[in-house]
Amino acid sequence: VQVQPVNLKRMVDDVLSFHKKEAEYRNIAFHVDIPNSIPLIETDRGKLQQIILNLVNNAFQAIDNGCFLKVWAETDEAEQVRIFIRDNGCGISKDHLNKIFEPFFTTKKEGKGTGLGLSITYGLVQKLHGNITVQSQTGEGTTFVVTLPVHMEKE
Ligand code: ADP
Ligand code: MG
Repeated sequence: VQVQPVNLKRMVDDVLSFHKKEAEYRNIAFHVDIPNSIPLIETDRGKLQQIILNLVNNAFQAIDNGCFLKVWAETDEAEQVRIFIRDNGCGISKDHLNKIFEPFFTTKKEGKGTGLGLSITYGLVQKLHGNITVQSQTGEGTTFVVTLPVHMEKE
């Protein structure tokens, strides 16, 4: 883990610039809204980028053209930042919901998914001393929430 100050807004805008083009092309309403009030976060930039990319890639695969995808963030007095990734795609059924963080669990067609993205993401979030939760409803969509300490202790 390499802790450095990260400007979340700038980092998210950079890492999702490719997806913005894909969204335009696919007519997906893609809203990225990280307020300026989010403080600098002391965390591992590379790991946080990968977490966000994995979750946004999954969301892009879960939605059809014409859907929406929203990424936003908040902070609280507990010195935590919460990053939300919300889509109105296919959703995750109740019996799949407790398996999605397991390695090799995938519902995607052969060759389309390895089932590793979320298990890696889970491990990365632990390394950043955070946690990840998911809420989902079949046919309604999915929201992942990543909570991280604003100041991560150097190890
Ligand atoms: P993969 O993307 O290779 O299938 P992941 O570990 O990234 O593996 O995801 C595991 C499974 O979780 C996916 O196959 C899919 O069934 C489900 N999933 C993850 N994110 C979403 C999402 N945003 N909407 C619907 N299902 C999702
Ligand atoms: Mg994936």
